[in-house]
Amino acid sequence: MTDFLPFTRPTLDEATIAEVVAVLRSGWITSGPKVAELERALAAYLGGGRQVRVMTSATGGMEMALKAAGIGRGDEVVVPAMSFAASANVVVRVGARPVFVDVELRSRNASAASFEAALTPRTRALMPVHFSGLAVDMDPVNALAAARGLRVIEDAAHAIGTRYRGRLIGSFGDIVSFSFHANKNMTTVEGGALSFADPALALPLDRERFHGITKDAAGNVDVFDAGGKYNLTDVAAAVGIGQLRRLEEFNARRRALAARYHERLAPRLDPDQLPPAGDDGHAWHMYAVLVPFARLGTTRDGFVAAMRARGIGLGVHYPSIPGLTYYRQLGWDPEAFPNAARIGAETVTLPLFPAMADGDVDRVCDALLELMQR
Ligand SMILES: *Cc1c(COP(=O)(O)O)cnc(C)c1O
Repeated sequence: MTDFLPFTRPTLDEATIAEVVAVLRSGWITSGPKVAELERALAAYLGGGRQVRVMTSATGGMEMALKAAGIGRGDEVVVPAMSFAASANVVVRVGARPVFVDVELRSRNASAASFEAALTPRTRALMPVHFSGLAVDMDPVNALAAARGLRVIEDAAHAIGTRYRGRLIGSFGDIVSFSFHANKNMTTVEGGALSFADPALALPLDRERFHGITKDAAGNVDVFDAGGKYNLTDVAAAVGIGQLRRLEEFNARRRALAARYHERLAPRLDPDQLPPAGDDGHAWHMYAVLVPFARLGTTRDGFVAAMRARGIGLGVHYPSIPGLTYYRQLGWDPEAFPNAARIGAETVTLPLFPAMADGDVDRVCDALLELMQR
């Protein structure tokens, strides 16, 4: 019996573990020199000219960004119907209203045209989500935002290392939010980062991140806002420094594994069931396929259990947001977003992480194709 293959697993090397131990022994374990080092390393990775802040999660980062941008009660933010719930939850949490748009079936990304169709006089921001690490077509989205005076908060939770027209996501654009949750392409265990262009956001973000505290003109510590508490620890930052060192290598391995999945599955599945191939800027956070469970006489739970019995873990990313109970209760109709509804009903995420062997991809494809033939 071969080992169970989970749908994801972080790769933490011995050098990183040693750095974490060194921080634990150093006498300074919360936010300090390692946080500053990680922020400098991220800014350098993104090519300079950007403000970078790390925090305890991408969810916290997006909430801080919305607040710092002055978005709240009476405002609308356009959010894709296919994303993790956090993309919409953060909008609700600052008192604003998420307005959903459908995504394209294969890319799972929303287009500038769909964002434009959802604009109202109350729209203050757009939230493109680079789904699975495939860049949204950002030039028309940014052009739309510039023409209408809107902020753009990119949910780049899947997209650290993604390139759009040769440029790293987070190296340009208004406000870009990365996640370093344990399942993401790089991790700080839990954590996230914001990359932004506007230096005027730095002060409100720093205050929101840490109790509203900054130094006044005389150099005395003072509180200027009822700030929150989102600061990353040096222990977590040491993990992130070790991860960032290997990010390009990790993502290259993800791309190779995704190419192998595509090679095995493209001859056997309908193109609509497969993620799009051929974008070499794709960071391949996930490789997900659509499975017509009802037509196969099963359910997603039954299918997941059958794969598990063959030693393979699958994920589900994600149910459509308007179909979640909270958003239904707000009055959203999931059937109004047919692509998100179909993806939400039929998606399963196949194992994909840098430590996987080529043979693991073959094992997954053999089991998947066998179950899909019944
Ligand atoms: C993981 C994820 C988030 C939230 O990230 P956290 O760091 O866990 O808060 C937000 N949006 C998307 C699309 C995600 O996948």
